[in-house]
Amino acid sequence: MSGRILIVDDVATNRIVMKVKLSAARYEVVPASSGAEALAIAEAGGIDIVIMDMMMPQMNGAETCRRLRANPATATIPVILVTASEDMQARMEGLSAGADDFLSKPVDEVALLARVRSLLRAREEEREFEARSSALLEMSTPVAMGFAEAGGQAAFQSAPSVGGVGGGLTDGRIAIVGGPESTWLPVQRDRLRPLFRETVRIVARDAALAMTSETAPDLFLIDADLGGRNDGLRLMSELRSRAATRHAAFIILLPPGDSERAATALDLGAADVGYHPFPVDEIAMRIRTQLARKKRADKMRDTLDTGLKLAVIDPLTGLHNRRYGLSHLNRVAARCRAQGIRAGVVLMDIDHFKQVNDTYGHPAGDVVLAKVAQTLDNSLRHEDLVARIGGEEFLAILPDTDINQMRFVAERLRNAVEELRIDVPGGQVLQVTLSIGVALLEDRDDAASRAMETADKALYSAKGAGRNRVRIASGA
Ligand code: GH3
Ligand code: MG
Ligand code: MG
Repeated sequence: MSGRILIVDDVATNRIVMKVKLSAARYEVVPASSGAEALAIAEAGGIDIVIMDMMMPQMNGAETCRRLRANPATATIPVILVTASEDMQARMEGLSAGADDFLSKPVDEVALLARVRSLLRAREEEREFEARSSALLEMSTPVAMGFAEAGGQAAFQSAPSVGGVGGGLTDGRIAIVGGPESTWLPVQRDRLRPLFRETVRIVARDAALAMTSETAPDLFLIDADLGGRNDGLRLMSELRSRAATRHAAFIILLPPGDSERAATALDLGAADVGYHPFPVDEIAMRIRTQLARKKRADKMRDTLDTGLKLAVIDPLTGLHNRRYGLSHLNRVAARCRAQGIRAGVVLMDIDHFKQVNDTYGHPAGDVVLAKVAQTLDNSLRHEDLVARIGGEEFLAILPDTDINQMRFVAERLRNAVEELRIDVPGGQVLQVTLSIGVALLEDRDDAASRAMETADKALYSAKGAGRNRVRIASGA
């Protein structure tokens, strides 16, 4: 993965040493000799990571970091601070300024490159999410969703949102996984607890693997060696491959000074590492950074899910929308033709629906639509699909069905709706009927649009013949 790295150091030799290491790994390096210069370059855009010396005259690394975080244009750029020593106070100052990590001079090359890879990967993921969410949200405006074709009504503003979209925010969870003999576990748990709103729990290896998406934590703190060497790393890989725990953040705890395995841990997908006996304030800070990152990612995933749903689901009825219905019809047509399977469409329109609105009001009409939609959906097989393709117009697509079955199903749908007694706001109980046109998919390139046309003609003739009836397309 290539990336543009901003190196900030007041000493030219340090910049050069760093540049050599990073250029050798094919990263593009941009130098800055002061905090002020760094802020200007970062603000201009295109920087993926900042690696910055802590000790600089005028504006030191922590202060520069704080200003990067305060500016929306640079707030999410990962920052690595470089310190001369293991100076605990400097580290805490840097972490609380929003730095993602520390490296001590002389900088260990393996640790540096592993950290850079891991931060670039996280940043790439965030970018990808952002791009996809915004594309989807643009796409899911009502006009793009095909409702403009649905008779031109603007009947959808008052629609309730699709169930489950967005989801509720739950309080977070932190899980600590250590070996059977780890005496530090309860001690560190009790030190971490008061520092977090999230629950902090000790979890055994097997319990971690048994977690569901409901019980999974937001963050795992895992000892690299559980029962045996590297057991914790294996556990992380395992958890990252499971749906329930895939999106959790992982921090791996290592023996003091084991920077070689830190690199391995980061490459295996750890978001961060810490060293025993970990100072609780420092690990707490790292946990906070990762929780924030994880929550950002969750939010973006939610946006994406919502966008996906909005793009294919009609909010009033919960059925698939016109756009999805028609593209599904095209797919079914192609597949059935290729496999020599019969399939057909059932086109349905509620009779005299305008009168429902005119007499009982639009909200009553909405209730009728939702009830009819639900009834149609419940009356079909799992492999069938019903979509709302217009205001009071529905399309069912039935694969693997011959003309006699089609006729039978259409009659059943008509009957199911006729038998409904629908309670609407205002206390009335309404009845509605459907006129239905049925057509088979023929063996031709334009089978889908052809079936829609002939079904529409059949529907029209059902209306003409007095409504509340099924008409089969001629030729079917
Ligand atoms: P026909 O038997 O010939 O189909 O008569 P109709 O009244 O059902 O047909 P028409 O196309 O004249 O009227 C359809 C009505 O459906 C008009 C429109 O206001 C109403 N409608 C469309 N979408 C919605 C909606 O989302 N909610 C409600 N309440 N009404 C809607
Ligand atoms: Mg109509
Ligand atoms: Mg109608």
